[in-house]
Amino acid sequence: MRAPNDLLIERSPYECPFCDATHPIEIRKRLVQSLVKNEPVEYEQIYYYCPVENDEFIPSRIMDHNLLKARDAYRREKGLLNSDDIKEIRKSYDLTQKEFSNLLGWGDITVQRYETKLIQDATYDNLMRMVAENPSLALKSLDRHKNYFLPERYLEIRTLIKSKIRDKGNYLLRVQEIKNYYIDFEEESDFNGYKLLDLDGINRVLGYFAKFVNPYKVKMMKLLWYTDALHSKLFKTSMTGLVYQHLPLGAVPLGYNELLSLPSVKVEEEYVNDYIGYRIYPLEEINLSSFTLEELNILNSVANFFRDKNTDEVIKYMHEEVAYQETEPKQIIPYSLAQKVRGFES
Ligand SMILES: [Zn+2]
Repeated sequence: MRAPNDLLIERSPYECPFCDATHPIEIRKRLVQSLVKNEPVEYEQIYYYCPVENDEFIPSRIMDHNLLKARDAYRREKGLLNSDDIKEIRKSYDLTQKEFSNLLGWGDITVQRYETKLIQDATYDNLMRMVAENPSLALKSLDRHKNYFLPERYLEIRTLIKSKIRDKGNYLLRVQEIKNYYIDFEEESDFNGYKLLDLDGINRVLGYFAKFVNPYKVKMMKLLWYTDALHSKLFKTSMTGLVYQHLPLGAVPLGYNELLSLPSVKVEEEYVNDYIGYRIYPLEEINLSSFTLEELNILNSVANFFRDKNTDEVIKYMHEEVAYQETEPKQIIPYSLAQKVRGFES
C-alpha cells in the first residue's frame, strides 16, 4: 500500500541492486517524517522502486538530496534561510561560494557547507538575510574584508554592489507607489481576501506566469485574479492579498501598472497587427520551492487552462463570471463573489 501522497516522478532504466541488472525502475516521491536536530520534520523524500522485486532502495546520491530536503524542511520550520535561498542571495551578488563566504568574513567553505549540508545558526542566518535586504551592508562588509580579494575582483564586486544599491532605491520607491493604492485595505477583509498585500508573493506569482505563460498585460491581470479567486474558493483566503476592480476588460488589481515593475518581470512593447501589445517576460529565476504545493497546483491549473487562450478569449471568459456580472463598473470585486469562480480542470 502506498501513502496517498506518493507520486511517480518518472520511469527510467537503472542498475537495480535487487535484480543485479539494468531495467526500468520507478523514481517516486512521498511525504515522510524524519528527525533533524532531534526534532520531527516532514519533507518530500525521493526513493527508487523496483517493480520486479516489489522493493525499494535509495542510491547514495539521492540520499544526500533527501538529507538536504529534510534539513531545508527544518530550516523552514525555524524560519531560517534554506539552501536555495542562500544560493539565491549569493547569485544576486554574482559571487562564488568562496567569495560570498569571504565577503561576510567567513572561512572559504562556510557558504558551500550551508548550500549543501550544514544548518546555519541564527547569527549567520541574520547576517546573510541583512546583506540580502540591504546592499549597503554588503558594501560595508566587502570593504571590511577587502584583503580576501584580488584588487581587480574587489573593484568588480564593488561596482556591482553599488549598482544594486541604486536599483534598490528605485525598487523601494515603486513598492511605496503600490502600497499607496492599498492604503484603504490595511486590514484583512472581503476585499483583499482576508490576506494583507504580499508583495514578495505577488512578485513570485508574476514571475511564474511570465515564465510559464508569457502573457500580454491584460491576460496577466486575469491570471492573477483567477489565481486569487481559486485560492480563496479552496482555502478561504486570497493568495496575494491583491484587491481587484471591475473594469471593462475584466478584473484588474489596483496599481496594476506599478505591479509590473516588480523585479521578477519586464514588460516589452510588441507590435501585433496595428496594435501595441505589452508582453510580460520573466526577468529573474523564480524559486519554485518557495510556493506551497497547494499554491503550485493552483498556479499550474490556471496556467494550463489559459495558456493557449488569447486575450480576447480570456476577457470573454472572465465576463461570464458571477463576480463580474454581479458587480458594477469600477466597483471593488469582493472575494465572497470571487469564490463563485467556475472550477476548471485542464
Ligand atoms: Zn529490480
